Amino acid sequence: MLFEHNPSFAILSFTALLAVVVAVAAWRRRAASSASRPFILSLLSIAVYATVAALEAAAIALPDKIFWSKLEYVGSGCVVTFFLIFAIHFTHKRQWLTLRNTVLLWLLPSLNVVLVATNEQHRLVWSGFLPCSQGTNQIVYQHGPGFYWVMTCVYLYTLAGSLLLVKATQQSARLQQQQSWLALAGALVPLLGGSAYMLNLTPAGLNLTPMSFLLTGIIYFVTLFRFRLFDLVPVARDTLIESMSDGVLVLDLHNRLIDINPAAQQLTGISVTCLGQPLRQLFSSWQVIAQLCEASETVQSELLLKVSADCYVELHVIPLRDRCKGLTGRLLVLRNVTQRQQADLELRQVNERLQAQLHEIKALQTQLREQAIHDALTGLFNRRYFEETLPRELARADREAYPVAVILMDIDFFKQVNDTYGHQGGDCVLQAFGSLLRDHSRQDDIACRYGGEEFVLTLPAITLKDVYQRAEQIRRSFQAMRVQFGSATICTTLSLGVGLFPEHGDTSQSLMQVVDQALYIAKAAGRNCVKCVETVV
Ligand code: GH3
Ligand code: MG
Ligand code: MG
Repeated sequence: MLFEHNPSFAILSFTALLAVVVAVAAWRRRAASSASRPFILSLLSIAVYATVAALEAAAIALPDKIFWSKLEYVGSGCVVTFFLIFAIHFTHKRQWLTLRNTVLLWLLPSLNVVLVATNEQHRLVWSGFLPCSQGTNQIVYQHGPGFYWVMTCVYLYTLAGSLLLVKATQQSARLQQQQSWLALAGALVPLLGGSAYMLNLTPAGLNLTPMSFLLTGIIYFVTLFRFRLFDLVPVARDTLIESMSDGVLVLDLHNRLIDINPAAQQLTGISVTCLGQPLRQLFSSWQVIAQLCEASETVQSELLLKVSADCYVELHVIPLRDRCKGLTGRLLVLRNVTQRQQADLELRQVNERLQAQLHEIKALQTQLREQAIHDALTGLFNRRYFEETLPRELARADREAYPVAVILMDIDFFKQVNDTYGHQGGDCVLQAFGSLLRDHSRQDDIACRYGGEEFVLTLPAITLKDVYQRAEQIRRSFQAMRVQFGSATICTTLSLGVGLFPEHGDTSQSLMQVVDQALYIAKAAGRNCVKCVETVV
């Protein structure tokens, strides 16, 4: 094959080299973005296209030139198809790329390659070839309808990719907007070169399309290094934001929705089709959110969202600021806290149940304590309580220097009551005496059932004279008392022994001994009487 070195060859070779350099750089910075692969393939296609175009520019023999020209269509078809795939990935529409759609996408460029390859048979692409008038190795390709068809396909693919990128510029954060604009510019330069060639605006036979890819390579180079294509946005967007379980919404300065991740779509029921709409409109049923978004500081709140089911969310509104601290938008982070709320609720319920049980236990404990110190039949304190409290009462009386009296009482001939009216009749009398004793007690007095039909009354701060009188009153009242038991009326009497602390005994034992003795004397004296310790000693 004969070649001639000319400026076109040099420019195109440099274009191919640059495309390879940018492709390698993009490969090294590809990170996690799915858009990087078609981008790199598009660059490699540019490299192939430019190499083939360089060979075509250098070739001298017509069949060689035609051969390389045919190969150029393989390169240009790959460039535009990969560019469109890149735009689809870059704008997060990769769900469009089903197997069927991908096959359809490649079908058109493949058919075009077949059309060009079989030109000799139909001459639809090139109807003829004329040598260039300037005497160079350039030739003028005479174009048939097939050429314009192929070019239309190239334009269509580039236009589709460009439209996607333009749309991305309107909806993305600032950095991605700049990236999109640059990617768009990179795609449009070869189109302008191609258009100039088709409209015969270039010197005869000079196709600027492959050369314009030099500019594309430079633009992509800048995009890659200056605007960190694939470095930041795709990583953040694709692998982090997209897969985050927290919902993320990005608002612009005017509180219009410019981005939303799948988790936020699920939580709020707002779809990507709502991008660009004002938040107030989108959150019309959640005015609270709209109000929170007016804040210029970070705010946090917990809300109940009713989408498909009730859902509790924790909302963070974070203002986004540029380098000069100027507000540029807001970030809304929604965290589903329904499970935590439910767990809290369950915990509260368990806690309430435990509290109720605790109250019940405390009530039972109090009841038990009461039962432990009370006599079940009369409701008075029992002997245990008396024996616990008497030493305490005496100690306090000793400290505060006041006397304490004790009256010990025993119902006379109680055995007979039981024998005559039965045990139940006897119980009735015991209960009646219990309430009588209660009625005759002052607030500080302690009335106890000492055991069987014996009772004891502790009276703090009382004189011997007064206690004797009180004992007499009790005796008289009991004598006068008529206990109704069925049709029978029971009446009986009471013997009482009285003692005074510290006069008659300075300990509980010695006092009780003296009082017991006084009662014994009262019994011996014929019962139904009060015997004071004076009468004993
Ligand atoms: P005294 O005048 O000498 O005291 O004669 P008394 O019959 O009362 O003598 P005693 O102390 O021997 O009898 C007391 C009786 O009280 C014996 C017992 O059966 C009866 N008793 C003890 N506790 C109860 C009780 O809870 N209910 C009834 N119904 N009787 C009881
Ligand atoms: Mg007795
Ligand atoms: Mg008795």
